[in-house]
Amino acid sequence: MSEATRDIEALIELMARLPGLGPRSARRAVLHLIKKRGKVMAPLAQAMAEVAATARECATCGNIGTADICDICRDDRRATGEICVVEDVADLWAMERGQAFKGRYHVLGGTLSALDAVGPEELGIPKLLTRIRDNDITEVILALNATVDGQTTAHYIAETLEGSGVAVTSLAQGVPIGGELDYLDDGTIQAALRARKKI
Ligand SMILES: [Zn+2]
Repeated sequence: MSEATRDIEALIELMARLPGLGPRSARRAVLHLIKKRGKVMAPLAQAMAEVAATARECATCGNIGTADICDICRDDRRATGEICVVEDVADLWAMERGQAFKGRYHVLGGTLSALDAVGPEELGIPKLLTRIRDNDITEVILALNATVDGQTTAHYIAETLEGSGVAVTSLAQGVPIGGELDYLDDGTIQAALRARKKI
């Protein structure tokens, strides 16, 4: 194999690590990029380098942006008394696409899992509780996925907040069992938020 081909093979191997891309689609994507290297590949490479250098987690909510505090946390038109708790940044972005929620978020970065030894500390739940206490939060909306671990996490947070005077609700109908927010259409997310129920 020539030196030049090895570079392309290395690129295909890197692409194949992306979620949803196997070796076959990685190969197809790289071929497409090379054919369109002026219009697509070069700007993509530049954008990736820029975001790789600037992307960071919001120090308050865990959203990903390019500033220490994200746009949502800095937006003073948004309600400050409501926090929507999600597992992953992808879920936060899905909620934002639904445009139904006008409060703030908190990204856990996972779920409690006895199997994988993920406890409240690993998820930053103490930090969430401090944030709730220090910011006069009146409602915590648990938008966690309907998986076993997602629901275990929801119940843990709900129990921890019991007696604190903070209303704890969760997304209602429309969220399929084992469903991930990211895969829901915007209308379903809006309906699930409107019909949220106390837990
Ligand atoms: Zn933020």
